[in-house]
Amino acid sequence: MAAQIYLKLAVPGPLRRHFVYLPPIESTQTQWLPGQRLRVSFGNRELIAILVEVLDHCDLPGKQLKPALQVLDDKALLPPDLMDLCAWAAKYYQCPPGEVYSTALPALLRQGELATLKGEPFWRLSTEGKGIPENGLRQAPKQAAALNILREHSSLSPRALKDSGVGTASLKSLEQKGLIERFEHIADSSLTRYTRESAMAESALQLNDEQQLAFDAISYDIYQTYLLEGITGSGKTEVYLQAIGEVLAANKQALVLIPEIGLTPQTLGRFQRRFNVPIAALHSGLNDKERLQAWLQAACGHARIIIGTRSAIFTAMPNPGIIIVDEEHDTSFKQQDGFRYSARDLAAVRASHHRIPLILGTATPSLESLNNAIGKRYEHLQLKKRAANAKAPSVKLLDIRGQKLIQGYAPELIEAIRQELTAKNQVLVFLNRRGFAPTLMCHDCGWQALCPHCDTRLTVHQQPRRLHCHHCDYQRHQPKQCQACFSHELQALGLGTERSEEDLQTLFPSVRVLRIDRDTTRRKNAMNNLVAEINTGQPCILVGTQMLAKGHHFPDVTLVAIIDADGGLFSADFRGPERMGQLITQVAGRAGRASKQGQVLLQSHHIDHPMIQSLMHEGYHRFARHLLRERQVANMPPFCYLALVKAEAVDGRLATDFLSQARSIAEALYPCNAQLQYLGPLPSIMERRGGRFRFQLQINAANRGLLRALLEPLSLQLEKLPAGRKVRWAIDVDPQDMS
Ligand code: ADP
Ligand code: ZN
Ligand code: ZN
Repeated sequence: MAAQIYLKLAVPGPLRRHFVYLPPIESTQTQWLPGQRLRVSFGNRELIAILVEVLDHCDLPGKQLKPALQVLDDKALLPPDLMDLCAWAAKYYQCPPGEVYSTALPALLRQGELATLKGEPFWRLSTEGKGIPENGLRQAPKQAAALNILREHSSLSPRALKDSGVGTASLKSLEQKGLIERFEHIADSSLTRYTRESAMAESALQLNDEQQLAFDAISYDIYQTYLLEGITGSGKTEVYLQAIGEVLAANKQALVLIPEIGLTPQTLGRFQRRFNVPIAALHSGLNDKERLQAWLQAACGHARIIIGTRSAIFTAMPNPGIIIVDEEHDTSFKQQDGFRYSARDLAAVRASHHRIPLILGTATPSLESLNNAIGKRYEHLQLKKRAANAKAPSVKLLDIRGQKLIQGYAPELIEAIRQELTAKNQVLVFLNRRGFAPTLMCHDCGWQALCPHCDTRLTVHQQPRRLHCHHCDYQRHQPKQCQACFSHELQALGLGTERSEEDLQTLFPSVRVLRIDRDTTRRKNAMNNLVAEINTGQPCILVGTQMLAKGHHFPDVTLVAIIDADGGLFSADFRGPERMGQLITQVAGRAGRASKQGQVLLQSHHIDHPMIQSLMHEGYHRFARHLLRERQVANMPPFCYLALVKAEAVDGRLATDFLSQARSIAEALYPCNAQLQYLGPLPSIMERRGGRFRFQLQINAANRGLLRALLEPLSLQLEKLPAGRKVRWAIDVDPQDMS
């Protein structure tokens, strides 16, 4: 009899531990591989678990162990390298292992769907069809032609048949006669070897000197992270494309991570035009089935380029050759709930595991990455000129203190917009606030419409008319009277994109004003339609939020007007200035991307503020170095490592109580010293949200090892704390959002 084995499983759930099961009863399975999925009963539910390790002994008495119900995969679904990455991430981010695997897998695999690659429908001759002589079917010439085409090619896709002039009617008739049949063709080119020539669909551009230096610096057979810092339009994407070309020629796969809303059809189109290889795109527009298929195409080696948002970092690839993170500073690479991982940071872990290059590209590096480049841990590659013949835009600050504004705009700004429109150019007006106005206020008594569940004001929306909380989604009718003094003198104060759209349309009645924000792009294809209209090149005004800042190439925009830059200056989050600098630089980078000279106008009440001065006159890089110095003095990241223990509850005392206990436990494990400090429990920046009071305990550590040594035992003790059951709590390692 074979020796008893035990299966150590990651089961979805809130506990930071694994569970041991016996193999399913009557299982004939002889080979157990970490990365296989099993169905198990857990409490009174059935869950999908991942096999993490096969054990030959177990300390628990055999009677307490349950057999698993069923094995779902005959091969490991997650390859060893991804198993390692998940195990590493669970430890680093203090996340329950079951939750890590759930995030790593596409939804359908998580739910137990079989991992089978689906093919496309193809047509071929049936046995009967093969028996028809070449001059048969004389009464139906179209069908005869179709038969002949299929006789020449053993099988064809409906599209290829259509390209050869065969219509669906002929196919239907032939199928009814039993002469042709449909079958599922799995386009698997995992064994195809591409050469430098066969991988390319269009030839590469001639790199300029800076691009060439960057491209030549990249080594493909060792681990190295490169910070490719290039101003917008400097040709970073061209460097990525050429590096990917090298990887494809070596028969390897490339993984490209892009921000949440950065995967535009424009971006994807650029990769598809350049390369002749299967590309898998993993983005939020896919349904679960499509996502599963894209994942499987990468996992079997068929897809050679994988382009996706954050969670694509967990795509299985048999043969990875490079990882590229575009717009590496973008906050969407950090998941803000559940498994709070940073895809950018995991990309470095993964690249080093495979000994392959990682390129972090951006015009506005995060202070973390910049500091790593300055400290020579990353190789710093810089592109300072715009590629092609586009010139960097000119920049001007408009001091609006004491000025009479027209609907919130400086007269000089309006004049500049008018000039550009007259010259048949496009104008982009950036305002990072959607809705009509941020505040509804009573002119008689000063009452403001507040969210009943959050510490925030309700935003006024006109289309449709309502008050809306952007934090908890609470909505209500717009009142006609003040809720405090019943006056009718209610005023919508401040500027949102809806109001800007309306005002600009009034000021410039003869041009199209297009608004681009979350409200106007919610419907499928809405964004594509807007982009298509912009790309007709007609003079127009684009009004929008940060959605305009990302990834788009609008060649006819010559003027970028930044209406309100002041918010970030006084943010309570220590990353506020960094984010403001990134956003303004990215938006400004939309000006003059093609042959026309661009200009940027920024209106502000604080044009003398050193941060605004530095950003506008010295550029992002110098600005970021100033910020780094400030962070160093304040001993904040990247000069220390942060973790937050967060807790929220309807009764705020429960949250502070839990966090006070957490602090005592932490201090008992590691007392406060020069290497490790505790701060809190303190209220979060927005103390009440969605009806819950929110608090946090901040932990600053001098190094990552120390932080991890503390958090591991701390999180296990917190799991057992009775006070923890009455609150929602979480640990956020390397938090990106302090609010
Ligand atoms: P980035 O990714 O840095 O914003 P892109 O790669 O999108 O820049 O390049 C901006 C524009 O310059 C694109 O239209 C691109 O086709 C063009 N371009 C890039 N590199 C070159 C080059 N070496 N020669 C000519 N045009 C280039
Ligand atoms: Zn009032
Ligand atoms: Zn709210």
